[in-house]
Amino acid sequence: MHRQLHLQELDRRLDRIHASRSQKHKLKAEIKQRFGGTCAYCGCTPQFLTLDHVIPQNQGGLNVRSNLAAVCQRCNRSKGSRPLWSWWQASSCWNEERAIRFAETVLVCKIAALPEVAES
Ligand SMILES: [Zn+2]
Repeated sequence: MHRQLHLQELDRRLDRIHASRSQKHKLKAEIKQRFGGTCAYCGCTPQFLTLDHVIPQNQGGLNVRSNLAAVCQRCNRSKGSRPLWSWWQASSCWNEERAIRFAETVLVCKIAALPEVAES
């Protein structure tokens, strides 16, 4: 009896792990599709995309859509933990049109989440 309860609890835990894993996969796939499989920074079409934290995790950046971009390995490595805009604007792959699209596609949820400023 005890053993059975234990197995049921284990099943439930495994279900929860699988659910959170498939959610992560879904989020990853969604983020990679935002720029049609191209690097969000330089626009190249790499063999595989990596996920970059716009604000690095060690600086408080979150694992959320508005802080994640699918980019090529070269950009990811080049940017490192530098702030996005100063890195991007100084890099040879800076492109204003792409930057605007990036802000609209990736960062806009952050802006939309800001509380409305009360008129004084
Ligand atoms: Zn790139």
